[in-house]
Amino acid sequence: MALQIYNTMSRSKELFAPQEPGKVKMYVCGPTVYGYMHIGNARPIIVFDMVRNYLEHIGNEVQYITNFTDVDDKLIRKAEEMNTTVAEVAEIFIAAYREDIAGLGVKPATMNPRVTQSMDLIIEFIKELEEKGYAYENGGDVYYRTAKFADYGKLSRQNLEELHFGIRVEVDSRKEKPEDFVLWKAAKPGEVHWHSPWGEGRPGWHIECSAMAREFLGDTIDIHGGGQDLQFPHHECECAQTEALTGKPLSNYWMHNGFINIGDEKMSKSLGNGHLVKDIRERFKAGTIRYFMLSTHYRNPLNFTEESMLSAEKSAERIALAESNVKHRLELDSAGAEGEASGQITGHLSAIINNFHAKMQDDFNTPDAITAVFDWVSLANNTLANTDALSADFAALLKVFAEMNAVLRLTPERDEEAAGEEVERLIAERAEARKNKNWSRSDEIRDELNAMGILLEDTPQGMRWRRK
Ligand SMILES: [Zn+2]
Repeated sequence: MALQIYNTMSRSKELFAPQEPGKVKMYVCGPTVYGYMHIGNARPIIVFDMVRNYLEHIGNEVQYITNFTDVDDKLIRKAEEMNTTVAEVAEIFIAAYREDIAGLGVKPATMNPRVTQSMDLIIEFIKELEEKGYAYENGGDVYYRTAKFADYGKLSRQNLEELHFGIRVEVDSRKEKPEDFVLWKAAKPGEVHWHSPWGEGRPGWHIECSAMAREFLGDTIDIHGGGQDLQFPHHECECAQTEALTGKPLSNYWMHNGFINIGDEKMSKSLGNGHLVKDIRERFKAGTIRYFMLSTHYRNPLNFTEESMLSAEKSAERIALAESNVKHRLELDSAGAEGEASGQITGHLSAIINNFHAKMQDDFNTPDAITAVFDWVSLANNTLANTDALSADFAALLKVFAEMNAVLRLTPERDEEAAGEEVERLIAERAEARKNKNWSRSDEIRDELNAMGILLEDTPQGMRWRRK
């Protein structure tokens, strides 16, 4: 078996091979943190979480970077509206983002670089482009010179003639060509700004991803991901910036997820028109939301409606119920799950897991991989109904489910509970270490918890923990 990924650049499925075997460098464009996440934002987050889980599951170490755009026009407007600073707006919505992704069973990124903390990198990148003739300054703004980059348009396969026509309406006299895009914007009076060789200002949107990807992952990354809406202009501009500078491809594989259509009145009535993830999470479990997202292929459009969510809920519940029944049956058995599973079960299970992998390796065909999960549900239910079934059968069933679910995470609530228990255990161990004046172990555990995203707080009622 070999993993095939549809590469937007070539418009075809290609055999996936990371630059360094066993190590995958992945960059997924992150949120502009000026508001709560809506269901459309959640799709790439869940899709690329699944991709990362699968890559890890088949033995790769994945460096997964998602940026936070923490300064732009929208943040500036929001700060005015809320009568606060841009930094405060960013803090509020970064915290909300983290809460939402944890609530969706999504693993935190390896790193979330922020624009405001990457200003030196960004300025350096623009300076280098300018030195090479790919950027020009005009009145404190700096633009990218698209005419100098012959490959401009290659990712989105834009026809530059059509593009000219589209942009002509908003011709900006400061640009040499209408498709030139801004790398650095001069600050308006009173606006948040940073010092640069071109005066006070702030970066344009596209440059941050090029600068961060290069700094933290190197000149060429393995997988660049994002929503289809980012293909043009955002990813096209990223390509132009990075490739002009390094002469190497920005990414070997480009993955884009399809749109979500929201057109259902019933859902709008129940959630309001924002379709915010934090509200959806109150109505539906994380497993249901993930099932909904993953039961359609990531490149296909998805309809977010009352009916589709209720149907996802029914299916997700069937899976969760079979899993918990198998677990329960195993726990009941005091003899434990020693011994071999029956040949019939083992045969069925290996067919199921092979099918699961075959589908996942075909450009992450999760709807078909979920069919394999349902084959597992049938097998589990039949085995539960069979009074002659062995405990080892249930242990074997659970093992295969865990393998599939490590990728799809269709019952993330249960992982949360398990994570909670692990945190409690570590806190108890730390208290014990402190009692024994074993400070190094105590510090070690604090670091370990910190790495898990857990903060410890000493309160008058004793040690409390919370998620960062
Ligand atoms: Zn980006």
